[in-house]
Amino acid sequence: LRKAVIAGNWKMNKTRSEAVTLIKEIIPLAKDADCDIIVCVPFTNLETAVEAVKGTNIKVGAQNVHFEEAGAFTGEISASMLKEIGAEYVIIGHSERRQYFGETDETVNKRTKAALAAGLIPIVCVGELLWERETGITEEVVSRQIKLDLNGISSEDCKKLIIAYEPVWAIGTGKTATNEQADEACALIRGRLASLYGKDVADAVTIQYGGSMNAQNATELVAKENVDGGLIGGASLKAADFGVIIKAA
Ligand code: 13P
Repeated sequence: LRKAVIAGNWKMNKTRSEAVTLIKEIIPLAKDADCDIIVCVPFTNLETAVEAVKGTNIKVGAQNVHFEEAGAFTGEISASMLKEIGAEYVIIGHSERRQYFGETDETVNKRTKAALAAGLIPIVCVGELLWERETGITEEVVSRQIKLDLNGISSEDCKKLIIAYEPVWAIGTGKTATNEQADEACALIRGRLASLYGKDVADAVTIQYGGSMNAQNATELVAKENVDGGLIGGASLKAADFGVIIKAA
């Protein structure tokens, strides 16, 4: 069966010294966990985080990656740069990047391919806006994202992916999707993967829920058949809360 993956998305939080403190607090809480644990830290903390988690069961991820290999792309970071520094995962297409930084399904697709080519595991984020849910087009929106974001990606590579279902209306709002809504959307994504790649591939892919997941609601969300863990924002910045979520998975 699929193992749950609990990933913290720190977003633009924590200086280097603060990152060391937080990771040191998380390490004992993560020990002996049944799930895979990832901390996705700001670029400036990657090297420090990789060092801090050495010899533990915690892995490190970045929060974005550029799709070109190298060149005149001021301010960007390539997949090979991340890989060499010891990052193993990278979040791609987070709704905040789609919303504030012009990320499109096309660039998500290019970044996902670049990450895979460099041997990083992409955490590809999809999810509908509030008005899209309210007008009943969630299925259509998420299906389109999956199709476009994974366009041209082989079955072999698809199996390596983590997909995070993050309804945009649930992010940072304290408004969590119900357990049923989360399960239904993750099942829908698995269904899309099955129609694109076949059932075996779809069954192998980790599909997380994200959006106001916290120490109180994690157990029930993660217990759902199609929810293979979580991508956690706010609650991943508090070691005690993140620890509870890890235990829940
Ligand atoms: P919150 O957990 O703060 O709602 O953020 C979710 C998220 O965006 C994780 O990527």
